[in-house]
Amino acid sequence: MDSTTATAELGWTVHPPSGWEEVSGYDENMNTIRTYQVCNVFESSQNNWLRTKYIRRRGAHRIHVEMKFSVRDCSSIPNVPGSCKETFNLYYYESDFDSATKTFPNWMENPWMKVDTIAADESFSQVDLGGRVMKINTEVRSFGPVSKNGFYLAFQDYGGCMSLIAVRVFYRKCPRVIQNGAVFQETLSGAESTSLVAARGTCITNAEEVDVPIKLYCNGDGEWLVPIGRCMCRAGYESVENGTVCRGCPSGTFKASQGDEGCIHCPINSRTTSEGATNCVCRNGYYRADADPVDMPCTTIPSAPQAVISSVNETSLMLEWTPPRDLGGREDLVYNIICKSCGAGRGACTRCGDNVQFAPRQLGLTEPRIYISDLLAHTQYTFEIQAVNGVTDQSPFSPQFASVNITTNQAAPSAVSIMHQVSRTVDSITLSWSQPDQPNGVILDYELQYYEKDLSELNSTTVKSPTNTVTVQNLKAGTIYVFQVRARTVAGYGRYSGKMYFQTMTEAEYQTSVQEKLPLIIGSSAAGLVFLIAVVIIIIVCNRRGFERADSEYTDKLQHYTSGHMTPGMKIYIDPFTYEDPNEAVREFAKEIDISCVKIEQVIGAGEFGEVCSGHLKLPGKREIFVAIKTLKSGYTEKQRRDFLSEASIMGQFDHPNVIHLEGVVTKSSPVMIITEFMENGSLDSFLRQNDGQFTVIQLVGMLRGIAAGMKYLADMNYVHRDLAARNILVNSNLVCKVSDFGLSRFLEDDTSDPTYTSALGGKIPIRWTAPEAIQYRKFTSASDVWSYGIVMWEVMSYGERPYWDMTNQDVINAIEQDYRLPPPMDCPNALHQLMLDCWQKDRNHRPKFGQIVNTLDKMIRNPNSLKAMAPLSSGINLPLLDRTIPDYTSFNTVDEWLDAIKMSQYKESFASAGFTTFDIVSQMSVEDILRVGVTLAGHQKKILNSIQVMRAQMNQIQSVEV
Ligand code: AMP
Repeated sequence: MDSTTATAELGWTVHPPSGWEEVSGYDENMNTIRTYQVCNVFESSQNNWLRTKYIRRRGAHRIHVEMKFSVRDCSSIPNVPGSCKETFNLYYYESDFDSATKTFPNWMENPWMKVDTIAADESFSQVDLGGRVMKINTEVRSFGPVSKNGFYLAFQDYGGCMSLIAVRVFYRKCPRVIQNGAVFQETLSGAESTSLVAARGTCITNAEEVDVPIKLYCNGDGEWLVPIGRCMCRAGYESVENGTVCRGCPSGTFKASQGDEGCIHCPINSRTTSEGATNCVCRNGYYRADADPVDMPCTTIPSAPQAVISSVNETSLMLEWTPPRDLGGREDLVYNIICKSCGAGRGACTRCGDNVQFAPRQLGLTEPRIYISDLLAHTQYTFEIQAVNGVTDQSPFSPQFASVNITTNQAAPSAVSIMHQVSRTVDSITLSWSQPDQPNGVILDYELQYYEKDLSELNSTTVKSPTNTVTVQNLKAGTIYVFQVRARTVAGYGRYSGKMYFQTMTEAEYQTSVQEKLPLIIGSSAAGLVFLIAVVIIIIVCNRRGFERADSEYTDKLQHYTSGHMTPGMKIYIDPFTYEDPNEAVREFAKEIDISCVKIEQVIGAGEFGEVCSGHLKLPGKREIFVAIKTLKSGYTEKQRRDFLSEASIMGQFDHPNVIHLEGVVTKSSPVMIITEFMENGSLDSFLRQNDGQFTVIQLVGMLRGIAAGMKYLADMNYVHRDLAARNILVNSNLVCKVSDFGLSRFLEDDTSDPTYTSALGGKIPIRWTAPEAIQYRKFTSASDVWSYGIVMWEVMSYGERPYWDMTNQDVINAIEQDYRLPPPMDCPNALHQLMLDCWQKDRNHRPKFGQIVNTLDKMIRNPNSLKAMAPLSSGINLPLLDRTIPDYTSFNTVDEWLDAIKMSQYKESFASAGFTTFDIVSQMSVEDILRVGVTLAGHQKKILNSIQVMRAQMNQIQSVEV
């Protein structure tokens, strides 16, 4: 309210009528205004009230009143009585509506609320009612809290001479502001002059909160104070116009994260596709590696290496080159070498096998040179030197490479790596050995050199043999001899093998020796196994691993050892049977535990040699732990004790989270025990059967990953397991799977109590889990373990189903030979079945290594979407084995094309004339139908029937997908 803006009479209420009087006057600027005057100084007992009209509160909590007035100085009035006043009182009265009358509210303090007594700063002594020389006072008072809809003000004069020139009534508020990236709406000040009224801010468009709450306080003077919290422009937006607007980054610029910083220009070789970009996309042909920061230029793949120089030396080769001209803008260049051997004029080149050695390594070379050895002699090779950098994986193009063709020279054969004792008598030893890994030509013959271990090498004798077996006669009884063998080709003799020690029988041994039985030959596919027939079972055990070591501290203890190259520093598994006294291996690799530390609690299973129990182990100074205890039953023979403890000597060499951990052995008291960590969930096959369908695919893949990691560790140690199967994996309470069962004996004994292990040439073999080359000619390698791993994958994905169901072992061998493989288990992701099929490649060199399997599974775990696609045929369980040579019928348009593909073109006409012209009809054909169309050859009938069977399975699969 502002009295000076009134254009007509103010018409305020006065009491009594002889008191205040409304008059027109002038303000300082000589504008006409309405004023009230009173000047009854010569009359006594003055009590003159002036009441404004009803003033609405409008939400204000505190009201301010500014008064302009002049007061006459009493001393300047001649003969003025003592009652003359120079002050007046200000009052207010709250009311929800305009309720005042001439008599209400009463003209007195209470009901009126007194605000203050107002005195003039300057009074004027020269009255000039013309208003030309007026001294005007201005005073402001405030009151609150007010809460009713409105109020009146009243001015009480009690005997002064004054003029109320202007009255202005107002309240204070803080205006709408944008501060700290947030909008604060207009806020009225509080009821007290010291009150602070909190206001919440909301982030401006495209800004996001950084600290919450976002607040400002409005003080009694209508000023914002004490900012708390803030908002900042989000990624892709920058702050402009003094922080009041978040504007999208203009095209060609970006902002990667929320914050105060401005948009920046796109790095080289990148661009934006719209305004408000949070990053810039690479131009075609340019990429960003996962670890590249967003402000780094996009880069590309390197050009090819240049100027390759090769120098061949017999069967090894040095390659050197200069770096690519264009590094693609990156510094993480490395080289990969692809080796292809191109057999003399036999057409296409194939990837080199595992035998070729690369130094320092084949992949990820940082220097532009490599040394390649162990190539085949007289062979043409092509080497591709790929230049690879951090974005090669992202490019759809293959890496650029430089290639070089070389032909190796003639070279002598490599050394024989291992020799076996086939049999011995008091005066003879029969030995056999495998062909050198690199014969480098046709082997003409072998030369065996031997001498008594206690005599000098100068006394050695040599014998020649056209085959890889020889019987050395006329030896001394009970004497250790040192043997070495070397192969000869037209290029001359190769290096001698490492020294191997074999002992003739003593007379006493000879007397007690028992004729050892030859094991059965499995199946009919044993052709080509002739030389092994002579190998007695015990020797096969000695051959369980590819232990390779040059002159070592063990040389004297060894019955044999092999020489070869190993990565230096790499820990290699040592076969306990290479110790003359296997007890020494136990002492070396297994800790002896005092029986007083062991508490046997419960029998949990039956092992081969006795009960398996659970219990507790408390070693001095260590926490008590839960353990499994394998015992050796009483009445054992010395051989059984040795075989039992051999598992501990093997296990004790391993230290990996996915390989069962040996705590120690008890051998100084009875019963003899092997103590291992306890695996709460027992063996994986029964665990899965008990929990059929209970796990997510990721959990199953996690288990498989653990098993693969354990196997990688064992393979890196040169240990070949030979019996990898779900029954030999143990599971702990955290679902961690560990490889176990390092016992050897089941391969040896010719008892038929466990049908899983079928007697085969030179020992017993778990046929369903074993790679064909291991069944056929006992080629047990880490690659054959990979085959078994594929079977374990199948067991896991089918929750412990028996591989090949109830097929006989012989049927399994035949089916595998004919390229049939296990179909995907129910609900098995395609990627996993593909990995199984890779593990079951016929050529063991084509199977993945355990390290690659671990990487593949890790990728699946990181990217579970890759496991969404289900393998075709995964909807049923007892599907036929997949014949990997039979093509998918859906890739053909007509039955004729299909007959061509299965190489049965000669029956096209007879199929057509008998009406078998669609896949639907063909899929219904019976054996009689096949005979009727004139297929009389058994082999052709079988081929067509098999192909129809696969077609039906595929149709079922398609139908179940369509449903
Ligand atoms: P084995 O002689 O190793 O085949 O063991 C026979 C059975 O004993 C296995 O199938 C398991 O059920 C059980 N077993 C062996 N070792 C352990 C262990 N470390 N923790 C729990 N159970 C085990």
